[in-house]
Amino acid sequence: DEISVGELASRMKKTGAEVVKCLMKNGVMASLSQIIDFDTAAIIAEEMGCKVEKEVVVTIEEKLIDDHKDEDKDLVPRAPVVVVMGHVDHGKTSLLDYIRNAHVASGEAGGITQHIGAYQVQINGKPITFLDTPGHEAFTSMRARGAMVTDIAILVVAAEDGIMPQTVESINHAKAAGIPIIVAINKMDKPEANPERIKQQLTEYGLVCEEWGGDTIVCPISAKTGMGVDNLLEMLTLTAEVGELKANPNRAAQGTVIEARLDKGRGPVATLLVQNGTLKQGDIIIAGTAVGRVRAMVGDKGQKLTSAGPSVPVEITGLSETPSAGATFNAVADEKLARELVEQRKEEARAKANAPVTKVSLEDLFSQIQAGEMKNLNIIVKADVQGSVEAVKASLEKLSNDEVRVRVIHGGVGAINESDVMLASTSQAIIVGFNVRPDNAARDSAARAHVDMRMYRVIYDAINEIESAMKGMLAPKF
Ligand code: GDP
Repeated sequence: DEISVGELASRMKKTGAEVVKCLMKNGVMASLSQIIDFDTAAIIAEEMGCKVEKEVVVTIEEKLIDDHKDEDKDLVPRAPVVVVMGHVDHGKTSLLDYIRNAHVASGEAGGITQHIGAYQVQINGKPITFLDTPGHEAFTSMRARGAMVTDIAILVVAAEDGIMPQTVESINHAKAAGIPIIVAINKMDKPEANPERIKQQLTEYGLVCEEWGGDTIVCPISAKTGMGVDNLLEMLTLTAEVGELKANPNRAAQGTVIEARLDKGRGPVATLLVQNGTLKQGDIIIAGTAVGRVRAMVGDKGQKLTSAGPSVPVEITGLSETPSAGATFNAVADEKLARELVEQRKEEARAKANAPVTKVSLEDLFSQIQAGEMKNLNIIVKADVQGSVEAVKASLEKLSNDEVRVRVIHGGVGAINESDVMLASTSQAIIVGFNVRPDNAARDSAARAHVDMRMYRVIYDAINEIESAMKGMLAPKF
């Protein structure tokens, strides 16, 4: 919706000087090569006796992919999609296994459950879909690719262990994604279980349980004995109902690739989570740069399916290549156009790989603030001791002014890890480290994702540098 001054002049059959003069009269100083927006161009054109119309360019993507907005009358309730997060060994896998085993009736089609990356269970006649890969890593790497898959997070905290570094990461990842968190205090069967201490710890992260006047649902459970799990599932259904999750089953399917692999005999095999519409056997689908016709479709109980509606996970074959987890897929009507789009996407990916990527960096912070592009400066703080994390967080957030709000979206003790980098990348944040270094994996992915990481030894230096950057007075780096 924009045009250069020179182009506007030539389309109006006027000289560039005339247009520049007219712009100036309207208070816009612009050279011939400068780009002006549609509204400005329209005013100028009218003053100069011309009419402008927006040019409508239809891309292959728009021709191929139906992304019309659903009307309320077409929407029906859909199952919530739930991710289980928490510290290692706190019982995420055990919980997912327990729920699956307890809720797959032996008489059900197929009978034996398959691990396809997600599964669905019925709780009092209401379906819930679980992502079967526990942890926030998979969740965040999907989010890093732009996929919004999950509706609710279950945060598993072992009752005898309490809040640990990955618990904090999980909390902040879920918060960054803006999804509700239900806490499951696990291992309640152990004699040393101390749920009150955990509820206390949770308050430090803004999760205040209902009995203490907050709005966080906290469920004591044992993934080993099954105690409290039914209550947890009921709370999930209630939370889902509040969210009024809906989708339109009567349109072309759209969703996300949950996982994918290359099978020797069957070729690329992908687990898809349908998020809107209905996927049918024989549909032509495009998933990232993969394209093909859905040949076989299998559900989470190994059952053959011919169609799958919203929130239903299915494993399919028939794609030309293995798509990446987190890629969106769409069912489309025109195979030839779909192949064209795939080629175009591959071309774009190649171009993007060669082009410099602009992410948030302290160096260009000021210009982004000036351009009004930056309202929040998101920061992740890692330090060697908790005291420094708190101190830095408080001092950094105090730097907020009328233009920018400085927000510490995650703080933790220990080396900067890959999960920090992924969170920074999805949340457009910079990482600040005190007396800690990035580990190798973090360094590699930060370089790939162009995440700005800054190490300091003295808190004052960090505050100073970020304050200078906000004022556009950062000394250039050579
Ligand atoms: P994850 O790393 O979070 O997926 O944790 P796992 O599910 O693998 O569990 C770690 C360990 O804790 C395993 O040895 C489990 O058997 C044990 N565990 C999990 N849940 C419970 C529980 O509710 N009670 C007891 N006593 N042990 C549990």
